[in-house]
Amino acid sequence: MNYFSTRDKSLKFSFKDIFLRGLAPGGGLFLPNEIKKYNQEELNNLSHLNYNDLATEIIFNFCSDEIKKKELNSLIQKSYSSFKEKEVVNLKKIGNINLLELYHGPTLAFKDIAMQVIGNMYDHLEVAKDKAVNVVVATSGDTGSAAIAALSNRKNISLFVLHPHNKISNIQRKIMTTIGGDNIYNIAIEGSFDDCQKIVKDLFNENSFRSKINMSGVNSINWARIVCQIVYYFYSFFKLKKNNISFSVPTGNFGDIYAGYVAKKMGLPINKLLVATNKNDILQRVINTGEYKPDTVKATITPSMDIQVASNFERLLYYILDESDSKVGSLMSDLSSKSLFNLEKKEVDKIKKDFEAVKVTDEETISVIDEIYREHKFIIDPHTATGVGAANRFKNLRDMVVLGTAHPYKFSDTIKKAIGKNLDIPKHLKLNMNKKEKFDIIGNSNTEVKNYILGKIQ
Ligand SMILES: *Cc1c(COP(=O)(O)O)cnc(C)c1O
Repeated sequence: MNYFSTRDKSLKFSFKDIFLRGLAPGGGLFLPNEIKKYNQEELNNLSHLNYNDLATEIIFNFCSDEIKKKELNSLIQKSYSSFKEKEVVNLKKIGNINLLELYHGPTLAFKDIAMQVIGNMYDHLEVAKDKAVNVVVATSGDTGSAAIAALSNRKNISLFVLHPHNKISNIQRKIMTTIGGDNIYNIAIEGSFDDCQKIVKDLFNENSFRSKINMSGVNSINWARIVCQIVYYFYSFFKLKKNNISFSVPTGNFGDIYAGYVAKKMGLPINKLLVATNKNDILQRVINTGEYKPDTVKATITPSMDIQVASNFERLLYYILDESDSKVGSLMSDLSSKSLFNLEKKEVDKIKKDFEAVKVTDEETISVIDEIYREHKFIIDPHTATGVGAANRFKNLRDMVVLGTAHPYKFSDTIKKAIGKNLDIPKHLKLNMNKKEKFDIIGNSNTEVKNYILGKIQ
């Protein structure tokens, strides 16, 4: 199977290429030229598998040229052996909501589910065998720690993590800056997550720098991450044994929810995908009005969703614009020249067939946490609470799975504010609170980041 770019269909890449590069030349995103569609009988067969075997079947569709199925299966088993749940995820009924807990990995956020597999793929694909690889990643808080847990002390790989200075939670920062080995570099950028993401994208587009440091990326624009996230849509769908299930997804970069869209393309009969945003509601606006216009980023109690440039939305656009790479390219050049683009009504209608989108304010998020705690004695994190808040507005969609994207401990300050309780540190989080944090603060500039990286790898 080959991969192409959303902005240039004539480009041809292998899974290994796109795995390493993350971003296509010219700034587009990679998509596979074929998406396997399961029929009813095949879906029935998949529905009996345990999580690891199901993950093997689904992921294999996208990397079968490079990884043998048996090897993929042991890679996946190894990846999830550190998870608290044997079945990786856990589906729990809370009132009329089905909560899919995705946060039982080493850094307590759903990002571990993809990142642990990716870490092992770096070794398996032997990408750093002849030449050291430097992974550069931007994080709004959770990608960074998940990437560090996955890549720490891997041979011939260094990892540079850019996070927005003072704009992530204390525990997020604490995990990120204390768990890594000597090959990990934390950089606090004086700017927002969007600034961090832009620096990483710019560096990728600078050919000479990219090849000089043999640069690789694991941001949510990396297709391999999306592929790993498709699995739990299938898994929870099969567990519930119902048809017409909808999913409510706390959304920032449109990665996790896009995995649900791909699951639907693969034949899983999902009803609606519900985009839950916070005040940074660019996705809510584009889905309801057709105007995609990044605003300045506002700080909220759901920092992992404080994003205005939802990169993976470009992957949806490709299908909405009748698979036309030139139309995607022209909207993207509108975005860079006029700082916005507009979709036509028929395009918005097409999106609305699969998606709904709502904005959930901080006040509402707090009251959802409080309500779930009072009624069910269960504590959810603020990101998950936006998903529950969004689901509450769509009571007509009866069978709803809300993706639980982080463990509440990661956002203890907000939980304290919502329910007046201090949370205990979860046992499987290997965190030493007294360890000295390791990070450097640098300015919001491509040059400063480049010099920093070059200084460290020489
Ligand atoms: C990353 C993250 C999100 C947003 O996921 P996207 O794939 O960027 O849409 C939501 N909640 C938490 C806790 C996250 O870490």
